[in-house]
Amino acid sequence: EKEQHTKELLRQRLSKIKCTLMVMSGKGGVGKSTVSTNLAAMLNMLGHKVGILDADIHGPNIPKMLGINEKGVLSSGEGIIPFEPVENLKVMSVAFLLKSDDDAVIWRAPLKHSLIEQFISDVNWGELDFLIIDLPPGTGDEPLSVAHVIEGVDGSIIVTTPQEVALLDSRKSVTFSRKLNIPVLGIVENMSGFVCPNCGEKIDLFKVGGGEKAAKELNVDFLGRIPIDPSVVLEGDAGKPYILEHPDSEVSKAFKEIAEKV
Ligand code: ADP
Repeated sequence: EKEQHTKELLRQRLSKIKCTLMVMSGKGGVGKSTVSTNLAAMLNMLGHKVGILDADIHGPNIPKMLGINEKGVLSSGEGIIPFEPVENLKVMSVAFLLKSDDDAVIWRAPLKHSLIEQFISDVNWGELDFLIIDLPPGTGDEPLSVAHVIEGVDGSIIVTTPQEVALLDSRKSVTFSRKLNIPVLGIVENMSGFVCPNCGEKIDLFKVGGGEKAAKELNVDFLGRIPIDPSVVLEGDAGKPYILEHPDSEVSKAFKEIAEKV
């Protein structure tokens, strides 16, 4: 009976969400959360209603990147109220449920699964054009739960860096998506070159172009490359969406191109 109730709630919530996208990466530290946050902010800036579901249960960084330091959640008759740091940009994260940022989550897979389920069924997302789901790196329990709970995720975006290892790992994300019948929207190559703040010249710190090559080999689209910009780290730490602070930068242009493709 409870299961039936949850299924019905899920159906109702999901019927109001036009497009569900999951953001994946083969390994950590490639900028997955940065891409999720800024892509969401860019889509919002382009006039869309956007939600971000932070499904990175063990390392929930999205609230910090958006400057949300509050703990605890409120609910109304319509369900849990997501945070809305910018109008029409809603956020839900396990970080809100932890007593402090140093708390560690030690949950087994079934609990993680029901948490992800509740993050969709019990949260009053309302009408959304996009629900961006930020996943932990790899192809473990969380992406599987998301795929099972949503039953028909509209697409996956795979974030990688130009180095070979990250690329190899991202192949697994492509295989994972294909196995679960989730269309791969494409690969984003993050930390791709560095624009010198003094002279504007572009310096390729790592090999550039690996993401595009991998996309070709794996027969998926290449969504674009995002250069390294030291302000990304600063704004991320300060809790301000980078693209809102630096709308005319190379990085923001890259996000705009990506947002127009999804
Ligand atoms: P992940 O979610 O893959 O673990 P994060 O998004 O947390 O990665 O990014 C890891 C670190 O790299 C963060 O400190 C972030 O600010 C920084 N970072 C990500 N993308 C860029 C970029 N394009 N330029 C500069 N720093 C970046």
